[in-house]
Amino acid sequence: MLKKFNADLHIHTCLSPCAEIGMTPSEIVRVAIEKGLDIIAITDHNSVENAEATKKAAYGTGLVVLAGMEITSSEEVHILALFGHIEDAMKMQDIVYRNLTPGENDEGLFGHQLVVNEKDEIVGFNKRLLITATQLTAHSIVDAIHYFGGLSIAGHIDKEVFSIVSQLGFIPEGLPFDALEMSPMINRERAELIFKEYIQFPWVSSSDAHYISDIGKRTTGFIVREPTFYEIASAFNGREGREVIWC
Ligand SMILES: [Zn+2]
Ligand SMILES: [Zn+2]
Repeated sequence: MLKKFNADLHIHTCLSPCAEIGMTPSEIVRVAIEKGLDIIAITDHNSVENAEATKKAAYGTGLVVLAGMEITSSEEVHILALFGHIEDAMKMQDIVYRNLTPGENDEGLFGHQLVVNEKDEIVGFNKRLLITATQLTAHSIVDAIHYFGGLSIAGHIDKEVFSIVSQLGFIPEGLPFDALEMSPMINRERAELIFKEYIQFPWVSSSDAHYISDIGKRTTGFIVREPTFYEIASAFNGREGREVIWC
């Protein structure tokens, strides 16, 4: 039987230098449950290092946590990568790390990049330059995500910076995104006016939360059998009545 599950598939943690320090695994899980979410995805900039801790923090609560990343392409396009298995996300992270801009994070300039455990204890500081672009093109990122069995979503395509539309002017033919994301800044009516040429893609909308108070601010409903990565993938394909609802 199909049922509606609420998802927020774009949430940053304290590993993202631009996110607040309070975006820790157990806090994110607590607020996600409070907001009635069934599925969340952890999508830090160019890193997956706090995803497993958040999955562990959610253990036994019923909240499903997907491991993901928000990868910046060489064209400065933000692409969300979601995975069903943390091991696959780690393989993608290896590629991203090998193609990051060399250098260290300047904490004074960009902010802290905290690696934490499921009890919100700091276990390390990521020194990499996570906030900048990788040397990977949007095409190669989407290909690599698919190679590792993940889903690729064009990030906040309505934004005037860091989106496929802002950076390239359009979504190139043959760039096989699994879905497009709209930011909380745009409503469905306006999105349909501006992006009607991309209606063949499934559309999702998420909070892109950098602050605890933003979690669940925007959600997407998935009409699926159960709240899993594979059911989300099936909903993107419209398999056997499954649907993606964002209104
Ligand atoms: Zn972004
Ligand atoms: Zn983001």
